[in-house]
Amino acid sequence: MKGLKKLLALVLMVAMVSVLVLAMPAAYAEGGISATVTDGDGTVSLAISLNGDYNIAGIRFVVTPPEGFTYERVSRYAGFSILSNNEKTEFYIDNSEAEGIDVPAGAAVLTVVYTYDTLTACDYTFSIEVTEAADYNFEPLDIQGATTTATLVKHDWGTPSYSWSADNKTVTATRTCTKDASHVESETVNTTSEVTKEATCEEKGVTTYTATFENEAFETQTKAVADIDALGHTPGEVVIENEVAATCEENGSYDEVIYCTVCNKELSRETKTVPALGHDWNTPTYTWTETDTGYTVAANAACKRDAAHTETETVTASYQVITPATYDDEGLGRYTATFTKAPFTAQTKDIVLPKLGYKIKVTDYTNGKAGTSIDQTKDYNGTVTFTVTSDAYDHAVVVFVKSDDTYTRLTCTTESGVHSFSVEVKAATEIVIAFKGDVNLDGELKALDGTIIKRISLKTFTPPAELNRLVGDLNGDGNIDSLEGTQVSRTALNTYKIPW
Ligand SMILES: [Zn+2]
Ligand SMILES: [Zn+2]
Ligand SMILES: [Zn+2]
Repeated sequence: MKGLKKLLALVLMVAMVSVLVLAMPAAYAEGGISATVTDGDGTVSLAISLNGDYNIAGIRFVVTPPEGFTYERVSRYAGFSILSNNEKTEFYIDNSEAEGIDVPAGAAVLTVVYTYDTLTACDYTFSIEVTEAADYNFEPLDIQGATTTATLVKHDWGTPSYSWSADNKTVTATRTCTKDASHVESETVNTTSEVTKEATCEEKGVTTYTATFENEAFETQTKAVADIDALGHTPGEVVIENEVAATCEENGSYDEVIYCTVCNKELSRETKTVPALGHDWNTPTYTWTETDTGYTVAANAACKRDAAHTETETVTASYQVITPATYDDEGLGRYTATFTKAPFTAQTKDIVLPKLGYKIKVTDYTNGKAGTSIDQTKDYNGTVTFTVTSDAYDHAVVVFVKSDDTYTRLTCTTESGVHSFSVEVKAATEIVIAFKGDVNLDGELKALDGTIIKRISLKTFTPPAELNRLVGDLNGDGNIDSLEGTQVSRTALNTYKIPW
């Protein structure tokens, strides 16, 4: 009874400590035996233990092995001796010579070893029964009659297979016994996941899933899945590259480029054209050159951007009368230069058209010995100054305007040996030139002219025309007197010189 007393004392102590743990040593209180079978290589060890602490004087086990197992040997808890080993199935151990042995719960009281050859089944059950038990006073223990079994499981597992769920969140590991396909071990676990490669602009990221099993027969499984979407590029601002400036004549260009701000990859490139600028001309110069028939005009221009860029064009100006001249008013003529090249604009040059003029008739009574600047082929208009000379003869000349058969004597002014007179030119103007005193108008001063003048002064001779009388009036005072006759006579003798 010593074992029971101990048990009761312990139950009371635990109950005082805590109601909660009262149930904990229930197995212990129930007593009984346990057995485990451990597989070796062709052997198994069947270990039998007690479920409580006992002081044992003797105990008998009957062990029934399954078919195919052959007894090999037996061993017992230290201190016991084997009293019997009947038929290799009944084992009695004791120490009755002493006062019993304290055997703690769970300690192997008896261990029986068996051998086996081939095991075709998957489980083999050993049966154990306590047929006799006593403490050292030989009172039966409460485990007398207790039974238990121990089973050797000998599946022959095939290679495990692993099944991933579609979303890779779970993996089921399965293995099947080759001896009996209904023996299946399976374990489904949730995977853990880790990003093992980050997604980039263009490439997917990789998640590695890991499945770890409780069952050591199943190996940890990993699976790398590219299931993280690529990020796509992030376009940056447009960048200008390869800029080529446009010139006057050549197009320029540049590239508009967009790069990814993340990976710097070139995402797009567009080449743009900048039209040629065209020349920027300075104000052109125009040079007029007179020719036999009018004008040519040379135009020149230089570019502001590059003085080496020049343009030139020479054209012949066209002519147009804008306002015809009249006798009273000047007219207007216009030359126009028209160019074909861009920087040049039409240029004009206006010219004054002189008033229309009249021809002057010259009647010369000096036989051409006196010269005059009157050009009878030209037209004259208004009051015009002419000159007259008489170098051949050192005789003075008298000049008249004839109009309606009357003569107006013109005054000659003498400067530097040139004698000039002015006349208002009109239609049918006639200039008469004669030597002073040459009253017979034969172009020579002779003694006869002096005689004629004297006779006119004496009124014994009437000049044939008004002009003759005016030529004889040397000083132009309107009268012909004898002195003038004498002056002409002396001039003929070279002893006098009639003044201008
Ligand atoms: Zn099996
Ligand atoms: Zn990118
Ligand atoms: Zn230019």
